[in-house]
Amino acid sequence: MAEQIPTVEMDKIVSLARRRGFIYPGSEIYGGISGCWDYGPLGVELKRNIRQAWWQSMVRERDDIVGIETSILMHPQVWVTSGHIERMVDPLVECKNCHLRYKADDLQGNRCPSCGGEFTEARMFNVMFKTFIGPVEDSASVVYLRPETAQGMFVNFDNIVQSTRKKLPFGIAQQGKSFRNEITTGNFIFRSREFEQMEMEFFVKPGTDEQWFEHWVQERFNWFVKLGIKREHLGLNEHSKEKLAHYAKRCIDITYLFPHGWAELEGIANRTDFDLKQHSQGSGKTLDYYDDETKEHYTPYVIEPAVGVDRSLLAFMCDAYEEEPDKEETRVVLHFHPALAPIKAAILPLSKKENLSVFAKDVYKDLRPHLAVQYDDTQSIGRRYRRQDEVGTPFCVTVDFQSLEDKRVTIRERDTMNQIRVPVAELRRTLTAKLEGEDILVLPPGGEVWKIERGDKKQ
Ligand code: ATP
Repeated sequence: MAEQIPTVEMDKIVSLARRRGFIYPGSEIYGGISGCWDYGPLGVELKRNIRQAWWQSMVRERDDIVGIETSILMHPQVWVTSGHIERMVDPLVECKNCHLRYKADDLQGNRCPSCGGEFTEARMFNVMFKTFIGPVEDSASVVYLRPETAQGMFVNFDNIVQSTRKKLPFGIAQQGKSFRNEITTGNFIFRSREFEQMEMEFFVKPGTDEQWFEHWVQERFNWFVKLGIKREHLGLNEHSKEKLAHYAKRCIDITYLFPHGWAELEGIANRTDFDLKQHSQGSGKTLDYYDDETKEHYTPYVIEPAVGVDRSLLAFMCDAYEEEPDKEETRVVLHFHPALAPIKAAILPLSKKENLSVFAKDVYKDLRPHLAVQYDDTQSIGRRYRRQDEVGTPFCVTVDFQSLEDKRVTIRERDTMNQIRVPVAELRRTLTAKLEGEDILVLPPGGEVWKIERGDKKQ
């Protein structure tokens, strides 16, 4: 595993992301702002699809997990109780010559990697962003931008138990922005200062925690594989006892072979009863659970899978990227899983002639309420196919002059470049079935079997 070479360079992903409207540098016209990124029209769709796929598997398809959306600003005591004020600190050094700052833990030698200068003594630096609530900027009004979404779920544990009557084991899931004033950002969106997390706190009876921990490592690993990440590009890395976070009994990272090497994609931690006990103490409100069956009160243990939306978006993009020789040129393809693809189908009339445009636009408008589709009538058909391949559109629907006669259109598949002709009346059903990876049998009016297609099976 360790010797494996990343399949794509970061520069290619950064350039494609910018050129095609996935991701731009934040506040670019002012020279950018380090560690902040803006998502363009395709990036925002991809991000939504990733969130949706996670929500679907973590909340919608389960009876034992509920969703929540908590405030980014929380009572400042939350961060004292959770240990973030005291512990979310990194030792920071500064080069005396060029004044670049580094996380001391990341450095190999004792000289500045940029200019060879000498470093200052390390000083501790809290990565939480501070601001003020209300009109007075004094120490009594300090609040923090949350550095993780998890605490919002712990402080609502009792609200959820009371309002949903959930029995253990059950989970609370949340997606939302987190902020960390990271000392070193970089590797594109891998480490940013403003990013989005998808976290789930799964509360279990103490003693069953080990078993649930392993369950969640498997579930989460398989989620990435199901959505198209190659198994050989994923790894597991268990934290040694010395590296474990202060609240954790066990922690395993799902790692991915990013262009800059193997790195954490998602962390799964056994947080024990640390957070609920701390908040019980800090708030004076008992946060335990009454077990109807055993008639005892206890504090549940928590298993937490925590992943970044942006970091997984980067992994999905890198893994989907491929350059294929194509005649004299190179075909760049993003082999996105259909559920993630920002555009599911592009409608491409062969010419801009009015009668064809009217027909093609009707096809497009019929699909639009049901699927993320795009209409494109500029440049040659070959160029348009390439453009769609490059942004990962699974299907192109070509409308030609014969379509006006026989009311059929051609579906071209991104991965195989195979083409099939289908009646317009069957187009939506065919595309939907193919996107869902079903076997489909389409019968045209009149009974003649014109095509039996096997869609791409979901893994
Ligand atoms: P790292 O060791 O990379 O700093 P971490 O162990 O501090 O990450 P967690 O606190 O476990 O990260 O956060 C859970 C997930 O949130 C990470 O696996 C990652 O996907 C995402 N994440 C954390 N920090 C950042 C960041 N600065 N930028 C983008 N994503 C992040």
